[in-house]
Amino acid sequence: MRSFLFIILSLLFTSTAHAIELCYHLSMPQPNSHYFAVKIDVEKNDQRTQEFKLPVWTPGSYLVREFSKNLNQVKAIDANGKALTVKKKSKNAWEVECEGIQKYTLFYEVYSFELSVRTPYLDNTHGFVPGAAVFMYTENSRDQKGLLKVYPHHSFEKVSTALKGADFKTESGCQTFVFNDYDQLVDSPIEIGNHKEFNFIAAGVNHKVAMYGEANYEIEMLKRDMAKVVEAATAVFGSNPNQDYLFIVHNVANGQGGLEHMNSCVLSVNRWSYQGSNYLGFINLVAHEYFHLWNVKRIRPIELGPFNYDQECYTSLLWVMEGITSYYDELLMRRAGFYTPSEFVSKLQSQINYVEGSPGSRIQPVAHASFDAWIKAYRPNENSANTTMTYYSRGAVLGAVLDAFIINKSKGKQSLDGFMQLLYKKYAQELKRGFTEEEFEMELSNYCGEDMRSFFTDYINGTKIIPYHKYLEPVGLQVMDKTSTLTNFGASLENGEILKVRSVRNGSAAEDAGICVGDEILACDGYRIDKTALENKYNNLSANDSMQLLLARDGKLYNTNCFMKTFAKPQFSLQIKDANAPLLLYWLR
Ligand SMILES: [Zn+2]
Repeated sequence: MRSFLFIILSLLFTSTAHAIELCYHLSMPQPNSHYFAVKIDVEKNDQRTQEFKLPVWTPGSYLVREFSKNLNQVKAIDANGKALTVKKKSKNAWEVECEGIQKYTLFYEVYSFELSVRTPYLDNTHGFVPGAAVFMYTENSRDQKGLLKVYPHHSFEKVSTALKGADFKTESGCQTFVFNDYDQLVDSPIEIGNHKEFNFIAAGVNHKVAMYGEANYEIEMLKRDMAKVVEAATAVFGSNPNQDYLFIVHNVANGQGGLEHMNSCVLSVNRWSYQGSNYLGFINLVAHEYFHLWNVKRIRPIELGPFNYDQECYTSLLWVMEGITSYYDELLMRRAGFYTPSEFVSKLQSQINYVEGSPGSRIQPVAHASFDAWIKAYRPNENSANTTMTYYSRGAVLGAVLDAFIINKSKGKQSLDGFMQLLYKKYAQELKRGFTEEEFEMELSNYCGEDMRSFFTDYINGTKIIPYHKYLEPVGLQVMDKTSTLTNFGASLENGEILKVRSVRNGSAAEDAGICVGDEILACDGYRIDKTALENKYNNLSANDSMQLLLARDGKLYNTNCFMKTFAKPQFSLQIKDANAPLLLYWLR
């Protein structure tokens, strides 16, 4: 067995100067301890020292998560069992002294007890491995093929991953997978346990669904509905890049969404959400993550691959990657028959009113929201609503506006689909690289047949309200501006026994009255008050009416007079003007 394996390994690995060759071993001797044990065999070392690093973030989730905080006991031994010196070089790097040692093994363990789509988890019910949080790499082996050997705990029967299984036999109790490079290894999350699996074929691709956890799904219904989404997404591009695709689904108490990968995705879903009105939410999540297999995994800004795993990778184009994907996840629901045209338009109306009604949308351009995702979107605080705009929502609205603009300009011959196809063919397939921000703007201008500079200046790098009537009426919608002036307190309140202020809107009555986040409101106009009573009180006040509030901050009581103020709330109503208008039929086909 050993010599046979060696022959295969020799064929598998390419031999280059200063190259080390790696084989990863992943085991889990005591699942309830929450430690994965990782072993990396190094073959043909010709370095004096070798630096091993663990990524600080995982692609698709734009936050430095410092995965190395979970690593312990990093050790190395040579082929004779002699310990090698391992020095910590930085927060996520270890250096092995290996001069003159051709073969050695690096060991470490990874504490894994945060169940999310981006963090590792292990207990007696299952194990989940997002590779970037678990597997170390060396700079000089990132482009090399390698092997991953998974040794499931004896109580676990299945290992599901998008990595290809090795076509040779290895020892019992071990499942061996091959990878083409480190990016592929960490872009192929692994589910280990006794989960249920089912398969369906759609768009000519074999899809496997690995379901962890009890839930109220019905397999035949999922096969049918997930296939509809897959077909609709593939139709946008005309072809599907995969032969096999894996959905890993975690059915849990508090689902958190999904994370996209090259040939798979991970979905975290409320376990009882497969029936009733929540079911469409699950299908919508499938649509979102599936669309990503083109948009961001293949169509991408140049900064998002090959990745710098050591630090933030800044791009101003997350509004395209996440926002346009969010636009398409709704459009695919329409195209796959889950929404009527009116339901689709109603969702768009809600999205527009959320975007334009948020104070932060006048402060933070969507390009800046993209760039600062690392420190703002992923690290919100009590003031975020005042100063930030989500690139998901504004990006989705921009997707709708651009789609309508292209459809109108081309008189129903082209749509945003064609532009996405162009990016896919030119950059992902022919040039095999991402695009710069300048290239994206240039391509969009060329495709639209119009210089889009002012569109970028006003709505992408700027915060102007989009003139929706200009873009959406020519394709068959009626857009009414119902912007109104509202009288408002301007502070939102936490739920609970104690009436605490959760957020304060900039420029509001509450801010003028000196009310701060965290203040406790004890009484209004001389009486104890609860949340409902306070809301009733200020909802019945007009501009310049006042209420006297007794508050507590840091244990000290104080009184303030709060004078109601008005502010303008942008609001739009969208209606289908003519359900048979050719451009509308083409748009919502
Ligand atoms: Zn997404």
